[in-house]
Amino acid sequence: MSKSLLADANVRLEEALKYVSISEDAFSRLKYPKASLSVSIPIRMDDGSLKIFQGYRVRYDDTRGPGKGGVRYHPSVSIDEVQSLAFWMTFKCALLNLPFGGAKGGITVNPKELSKTELERLSRGYIEAIADFIGTDVDILAPDVYTNEMIMGWMMDQYSIIRRRFSPGVVTGKPLTMGGSQGRDTATATGAFHVINVMLKKFNLVKETTTVAVQGFGNAGAQMAELLFKAGYKVVAVSDSQGGIYAPQGLDIPSIRQYKKSHRTVTGVYCQDSVCNIIDHEVITNEQLLTLDVDVLIPAALEKQITEKNASEIQAKFIFEVANGPITSSADNILNSKGIHVFPDILVNAGGVTVSYLEWVQNRNGLYWSLTEVHEKLKVRMIEETEAVWSISQKFEVNMRTSAYIHALNRLNEAMSAKGTRDYYQNN
Ligand code: NAD
Repeated sequence: MSKSLLADANVRLEEALKYVSISEDAFSRLKYPKASLSVSIPIRMDDGSLKIFQGYRVRYDDTRGPGKGGVRYHPSVSIDEVQSLAFWMTFKCALLNLPFGGAKGGITVNPKELSKTELERLSRGYIEAIADFIGTDVDILAPDVYTNEMIMGWMMDQYSIIRRRFSPGVVTGKPLTMGGSQGRDTATATGAFHVINVMLKKFNLVKETTTVAVQGFGNAGAQMAELLFKAGYKVVAVSDSQGGIYAPQGLDIPSIRQYKKSHRTVTGVYCQDSVCNIIDHEVITNEQLLTLDVDVLIPAALEKQITEKNASEIQAKFIFEVANGPITSSADNILNSKGIHVFPDILVNAGGVTVSYLEWVQNRNGLYWSLTEVHEKLKVRMIEETEAVWSISQKFEVNMRTSAYIHALNRLNEAMSAKGTRDYYQNN
């Protein structure tokens, strides 16, 4: 049987523990989520029938501050997945030195099967069900897979209705008109872009000749591909849940984004309408995209995409994890032995939560920053922490994933030591 996601996530923690001196108590606490809530959400569908959806919210650890994490809508959402995502958020927030613990939420649903009004009722119903578990100083929500700023707006509004006060700080990733931050919509990709630039420079790669494949063409993946394209990198392959396209001479990413906006898939992009003849291309599967002979591979879709089954076929020299958990721990070992440099999710995709933090700060202060100010704050933090993770990897001669966990663990350990273990049941 394959390991649960959370058990797999813990393998990375154990590896980092070889290099960090942490109390047994702190370690024991970090192995388990602090609180997990499971709710059923009854929704009146447009046809008048009642459907019950399963939802979750997990606060993994709140030693460094209130829980922070996105909400995912996907048919495969389970308590194990949400707990693992909350675990990663705990380490990501510590790594970026944000004053947050880690949390996550999700609903087991295929949102593509719902009408807009059903989606709104489900989002409001989810908040109704978890309202006592969340809050501006307790646990703050954000977008994740198949959720967006419109949904975040509904969620914040519903929470404000329940609490009878405007509460913008309980949800980040909101529309600008509802207290959202400039730059939040592109934050994950922008943050990853800084990490990629810093790291590829260290390995003397030149943008114009660096080939890139991006798996996933949603919020994070499409923006990632476009930023790289505009900076001069050669993005040769992209994919979404329906399949992918590959052109060794490079793809025209803005056209693909435009096509996807109107047709909702990338695979037909060069075969229909006006963009058809721009560039010769090959239609490929997602599996093929992962094993292309490229310099840089960017998984930006879902977890467990590179496993022990396909790791030995990966040809990319560098992998930047924009998705959460796209590589299993057993695949990590194979990639390491092949000399492939893997840059971990908790660093690479941390731009999203970093600007979420800036949004939360702005909501609490009622003072809003310009896009330039937000971009500058994001850039400084991403580069600073990437350099810190790189230094630790050089010092201990470990890979970037272990190094990132060492860095985060040190911060978590410091906070836990300062607070004590909060063991309420000790004998006096
Ligand atoms: P999204 O829903 O906007 O996009 C997901 C994309 O993945 C879609 O293009 C979908 O078609 C594609 N996809 C789904 N299944 C696939 C498959 N089997 N193969 C290839 N593509 C597939 O989600 P997103 O917000 O872009 O998130 C993507 C990943 O990035 C997730 O792991 C998420 O946790 C992570 N992430 C996102 C953010 C953010 O701010 N959006 C922040 C941090 C991490």
